[in-house]
Amino acid sequence: MKKQFAIIGLGRFGTSICKELYHMGHEVLAIDKDEKKVEEANQFATHAIYADATDEASLIKIGIRNFEHVIVAIGEDIQASILCTLHLKDLDVPKVWVKAQNSYHHKVLEKIGADRIFHPEKDMGNRIAEFLTSEKVLDYIDLSADYSIVEILATKKVNGKSLIDLDVRAKYGCTVLAIKQKGKVDVTPNPNDPLHQGDIFVVIGNKRDLRRFQEGAL
Ligand code: ADP
Repeated sequence: MKKQFAIIGLGRFGTSICKELYHMGHEVLAIDKDEKKVEEANQFATHAIYADATDEASLIKIGIRNFEHVIVAIGEDIQASILCTLHLKDLDVPKVWVKAQNSYHHKVLEKIGADRIFHPEKDMGNRIAEFLTSEKVLDYIDLSADYSIVEILATKKVNGKSLIDLDVRAKYGCTVLAIKQKGKVDVTPNPNDPLHQGDIFVVIGNKRDLRRFQEGAL
């Protein structure tokens, strides 16, 4: 289903969200207070508008209230990001997602009702650190400071074993959500089936347990 999004702030983060949503076939309104950015955005947005998003009257004029989903990707100017978020919530935009610069910014955004808060640089830093420390980790989603979902590539250690033999929950306290074998994803893997080197395990759990599992079992 086609959805409507508005992206405020066309820095690197805002631009890549904009491109991706547009590429997926959604209607995207791109907004920036820099005319050059607006001009460029015409190539990867349904509409691109020049506006100062800290000015409530401008937001009303461009019809921001008609959008179900607005993403505030104003980076360095924390004050502008906060003020803009405040206006959007005052104007009853149902879903306001905001990029935060740091933990203080995050706290304020939470208080004023941002529906979701991103830390793209920090998340990416964590992911890269995880990839750097293990060649087996293929992908990684942080759920909280302590929990994540990881995709781990099995080595020959698993050959001749089954999920029952690995005894993942009891031994490591984490849960296998799916196993990918030869490009096929099985979300209900048979615990008796043989496992093979090259299988990809999608596992959820505490980071410490995941590390133990990855090092000990795979
Ligand atoms: P990133 O780190 O994602 O590259 P930047 O801080 O470089 O983010 O870019 C943020 C964008 O937000 C810039 O293009 C800037 O012109 C835009 N911006 C900043 N303040 C406002 C505002 N009040 N209204 C609209 N756009 C804004």
